[in-house]
Amino acid sequence: MALVTKGIKGTQDTLPGESYKIRFLEATIAEIADNYGFKEIRTPVFEHTELFSRSVGDTTDVVQKEMYTFDDKGGRSITLRPEGTAGAVRAYLEHGLFNEPAPQKLYYFTSCYRYEKPQAGRLREFHQFGVECFGTENPIQDAELIALAHELFDFLGVRDLELRLNSIGCPKCRPLYQNALHDYFAAHMDTLSETSKERLERNPMRILDSKDPDDAALVPDAPVVLDYLCDECREHFEKVKAFLSAMDIPFTVDAGIVRGLDYYTKTVFEFVSDQIGAQGTVLGGGRYDGLCEELGGKNIPALGFAMGMERLRLLMDAQGIDIPPEEPVTLYLAPAGDAAALKAATIAQALRMEGCSCLFDTVGRSIKAQMKYANKIGAAFVAVIGDNELESKEVQLKFMKTGETTAVSLDTFVEEFGTLAIQQEVAALSDELGSDTLSDLDLKAILEGSN
Ligand code: ATP
Ligand code: MG
Repeated sequence: MALVTKGIKGTQDTLPGESYKIRFLEATIAEIADNYGFKEIRTPVFEHTELFSRSVGDTTDVVQKEMYTFDDKGGRSITLRPEGTAGAVRAYLEHGLFNEPAPQKLYYFTSCYRYEKPQAGRLREFHQFGVECFGTENPIQDAELIALAHELFDFLGVRDLELRLNSIGCPKCRPLYQNALHDYFAAHMDTLSETSKERLERNPMRILDSKDPDDAALVPDAPVVLDYLCDECREHFEKVKAFLSAMDIPFTVDAGIVRGLDYYTKTVFEFVSDQIGAQGTVLGGGRYDGLCEELGGKNIPALGFAMGMERLRLLMDAQGIDIPPEEPVTLYLAPAGDAAALKAATIAQALRMEGCSCLFDTVGRSIKAQMKYANKIGAAFVAVIGDNELESKEVQLKFMKTGETTAVSLDTFVEEFGTLAIQQEVAALSDELGSDTLSDLDLKAILEGSN
């Protein structure tokens, strides 16, 4: 019985006090992405399982251990997306976006699903902001993408993130490296974890991001990918670094970064924090020049990154970064009795049509309880509508900030409220700023602008 009132392990509900913060973050991030020419794409929460096994890679933890995979009633193998890139690439290919001028720049906010051990910063349903950029091999694009990530954090006031950068080569040079890695790990066969033993033949690079402590102990002495890059990859990497330096974006080269997904080529990077515990990677990404072709499309170079929204929130909380509070309701109408409630409803509807937020009591509380409630929700203005007011057709509009009241005719309330509200707000503001700051002329301009 308790089962139905308890969410699934590793999932989270977002309650009203939090959801507006997410909306704020998403809107802010979307605006920045827009400044860089990224347009939103939305793709389904589930895809054919094969899309992920082919793109993410069937020797990865994600595919081998973490996917929510099931057969639908038609017998197809379906998987809840564990990440956003595969779906974006699929949609890009399916809808022929490669026929549009390059680069095609896409962004998304998605929920992702991974069967992992829930802990701080690690959930089974989590959310990503991701970007993908198709159609250019130029390293300046790598740098621009990293600059976008850098600016996101900067704009949100997030500090102390380390940008770790690496290149993991391409299909030309990587086999050499894979061989060297294979030989190194094969010589330590006895200490490798079972999973890593299995991966040794097919994909020894996966051992580098194994979370097993015995595997991890072998990593510091393992061959370094940067020593094996071909000329093309080396030149690409040098340029990315030079562009980042020229853009004043600090980074450290970290040969240990290989990323947990198979599709990466050349540039890979992470933004890492040491302030949110063991799950410190807030954002990760890189180039995936071979993925479009791997999925049966044309050979189109591409790159992207994804940021974990929950980890971003954890970091913002750890750094005490406040999100601006939600705008409280503008007007609260406190009716007493049915006739007054009807009047309040009519006024509220008309004001909402004008774009004003307006609430009235629908519970049947006493006026006293309604005033308490209006205070609690932080209503900017309150007006009581009782029998007297209905009879005299006049209400007292109270500006809660100053306690000042103004008599307003019920018949013209809707027409007058906007101007009255702005007058009061401006007067209070000019009091706060000092009476000289806002001249009568300014006031007139503000009021005219509002009409
Ligand atoms: P990790 O090494 O922490 O497992 P990952 O390499 O699996 O991360 P990616 O697949 O690159 O992560 O996903 C991009 C981002 O999504 C991560 O940097 C992280 O911020 C976030 N993320 C990944 N898995 C989870 C999860 N289970 N819960 C919450 N956020 C996650
Ligand atoms: Mg992971």
